[in-house]
Amino acid sequence: MRYISTRGHAPVRDFSGVLLAGLAEDGGLYVPEAWPSFSHEELRAMRGLPYAELAARVMHKFIGPAIPFATLQKLCREAYAGFGHPAVAPLVQLDTGLFVQELFHGPTLAFKDMAMQLLGRLFEHVLAEQNAQVTIVGATSGDTGSAAIEAFAGRERVNIVIMHPEGRTSAVQRRQMTTVQAPNVANIAVAGTFDDCQDLVKAMFADVPFRKELHLSAVNSINWARVAAQVPYYIYAALALGAPDRDVAFSVPTGNFGNVLAAWVARRIGLPVARLVTGSNRNDILARFFDHNDMSMQPVEPSLSPSMDIQVSSNFERLLFELLDRDAAATALTMTDFRMSGRMAVPDAAWHRARQTFHGFRLSDEGTLAEIRRLQERTGYLAEPHSMIGIAGGVAHPAGHGVPMVAMATAHPAKFPDAMEQATGARPPLPARLGDLYERTERFSRSPNELPAIQALVRATVLRNAA
Ligand SMILES: *Cc1c(COP(=O)(O)O)cnc(C)c1O
Repeated sequence: MRYISTRGHAPVRDFSGVLLAGLAEDGGLYVPEAWPSFSHEELRAMRGLPYAELAARVMHKFIGPAIPFATLQKLCREAYAGFGHPAVAPLVQLDTGLFVQELFHGPTLAFKDMAMQLLGRLFEHVLAEQNAQVTIVGATSGDTGSAAIEAFAGRERVNIVIMHPEGRTSAVQRRQMTTVQAPNVANIAVAGTFDDCQDLVKAMFADVPFRKELHLSAVNSINWARVAAQVPYYIYAALALGAPDRDVAFSVPTGNFGNVLAAWVARRIGLPVARLVTGSNRNDILARFFDHNDMSMQPVEPSLSPSMDIQVSSNFERLLFELLDRDAAATALTMTDFRMSGRMAVPDAAWHRARQTFHGFRLSDEGTLAEIRRLQERTGYLAEPHSMIGIAGGVAHPAGHGVPMVAMATAHPAKFPDAMEQATGARPPLPARLGDLYERTERFSRSPNELPAIQALVRATVLRNAA
């Protein structure tokens, strides 16, 4: 299985190569050179499989011979064994034709675990094969950092350093990162904002001698392996609801466009998906795009669904590449022009094609709180703000009679206790396995917002573990 860049000027790589590389050298994103496909017969044959077994079969299509199937099966079994629900990603019915798929039963209670738990094991396997090691650096405003730390803690050949803006993440989110005691994990609280942390990551990658010395790597949401590892749960849900002998639809609360892109990929490789709804909060660039081809940047405003407080959805470039008939030069031009002008010029024909599948939905904070309350009153189901936007989007844009709508629940309500209290008057308790989070010991360094200070901390972590 070979991968090419959406901008056409990066080396062609196999799956292991794109796993370790993350971003392509030309600034583009890796996509399969040719899409694999599942026949209806192959899809039917996966009905009723346990999640990990299904995941191995789906990932095998994207990995090809780079990892033997039996090895992949073992990695998938291990990745999902620690989830807090035996079905891993269970479906819950809310109404006739309306379902929620719970993606939050992993160790950090958010859907990022679905991909990251597998990525940690894929990294370890590939690095062992290549007798190599890497230092993963990342910046987080919340869920990504903790999912990455949980996935890479204690893994051989990997050091992981995650920066968070001091005082600007929730206590649950910070403690999920800083209470992990594995020696290969380092947390840095930076005196600055999330954007400062992201700039520090970019600056470390741009410092080529430093990048080479420490073998820097990243697991941000543009890593193809993360997208691929999110495809299986769409297939799992659809098969349970009658696919491929029946169409299904998905509604996905969306930030960087990674999760909903995985749903699109599932459709592209053969799953009969009638509709995809993207959910946004007041940061509604995607809703504006799907509504009237207006992809224009506006300042990011904080909301009750912070993982969707994003203006530029980085994974959108992969869809754009397809909408432009895989024209890499046109994709590169459109993206550089977007960065400069703040407005993406998508040809009308391409936009119409996108609209055949995608519908945008937006919900304000007030609307989200009201919907959380209403859903709880009607069904007893507790949805946190991100998930609620997904559910409400599914209700607003049904795909038609007899087509089940599956909304993605991307976080456990206990991860957003303040919003839940505002909506319902009660703070949801943490699941038992995380119940002692507030008693665990925290461990992190503090740093000014200065590149040399951060680089010294990263180097010290790596040297300490090499000793
Ligand atoms: C990351 C995240 C999202 C957004 O997912 P994308 O793949 O960036 O679109 C939505 N909800 C929660 C809870 C998240 O952590």
